[in-house]
Amino acid sequence: MKYCTKCGKELLDEAVICPGCGCSCETQVAPAEEDKKSFGWAFLGFLVPVAGLILYLIWKDKTPLKAKSCGKGALVSVILGVIFSIAFSALSTFFFMSAGDEILEDAYEYEMYDDMYL
Ligand SMILES: [Zn+2]
Repeated sequence: MKYCTKCGKELLDEAVICPGCGCSCETQVAPAEEDKKSFGWAFLGFLVPVAGLILYLIWKDKTPLKAKSCGKGALVSVILGVIFSIAFSALSTFFFMSAGDEILEDAYEYEMYDDMYL
């Protein structure tokens, strides 16, 4: 149940115009929740992607811009996470391979040494 903001008369929930005073009451149903892009929420989504995703799902209908901030933060975080893990595994593969080459070179040098002095 809602009440007219002008005359205080009880209104039906679906009422658009107050039967008491005739004013439009649709715009004053409930104070609209503030909805804007928020770096803070994006940052939270970035730090805790799971929380960002949950908040996105909760807010996407009521406050889509705020929800998008969370969702974007979470998305960026996930994408960066994937990129970093790929880069990290590529780097470790690279280091492993070059370390492997060094071991082979050492083995080769030992062999040469054996040939020359023994
Ligand atoms: Zn009224």
